[in-house]
Amino acid sequence: MIDSDYERDRADMVARQIEGRGVRDPRVLDAMRRIPRHEFVPEIERAHAYEDRPLPIGYGQTISQPYMVGVMTEALKLTPGDRVLEVGTGSGYQAAILSLLVAKVISIERISELAAGADAKLRSLEINNVTVLNGDGTLGCPEKAPFDAIIVTAGGPEAPEALRRQLCIGGRLLCPVGPRDGQRLSLITRTPEGYAEEPGVGCVFVPLIGSEGWPN
Ligand code: SAH
Repeated sequence: MIDSDYERDRADMVARQIEGRGVRDPRVLDAMRRIPRHEFVPEIERAHAYEDRPLPIGYGQTISQPYMVGVMTEALKLTPGDRVLEVGTGSGYQAAILSLLVAKVISIERISELAAGADAKLRSLEINNVTVLNGDGTLGCPEKAPFDAIIVTAGGPEAPEALRRQLCIGGRLLCPVGPRDGQRLSLITRTPEGYAEEPGVGCVFVPLIGSEGWPN
């Protein structure tokens, strides 16, 4: 495929899978039109990069379904000055989308090879406001906290306590919560009194493995 084929497929993906299924935030739609998803998947998966499904990225992990990326990014209600933490860098695609919407992104990945690959990819695309760290993201990043938004892109038994504590007042934590074979997106907002929690749509993510996730 040549670049214009990818561009056409990407415009089509946003129109049908994202906007067509109810994501309305123009900034999110614009970011998804701009970031080349095919650059974030292994060479042999490139032809499938704009299909409506997750794809393997190695090490038993996946790049999320584009629709899930759209829904989750919209639900975070991001504004340009925000500082965001992502847990589960994977390919770096979600981090790249976030990079166009906020001031600063910290993204943590537990598999060092994926962290290094995502970091190199983001650099090659001249995305300079994302810092990729290798480690257990269920502990968050206390040195860089608090965050306006935290997005977890792997499914855990519950929303990690450390992540709740690293939210600003008014900050949003979005994470898939539930059994390994199927979760529900949980949106937790930190209020002056505590936390407000809204359960969202059903989803299936790879497991969140770590001290506040599933055991390895
Ligand atoms: N956001 C990614 C999706 C990757 S899948 C993308 O856009 O491609 C989820 C990722 O979470 C996997 O790479 C997995 O290794 C990672 N992960 C699982 N548990 C983790 C933890 N405790 N800390 C950091 N990363 C974790």
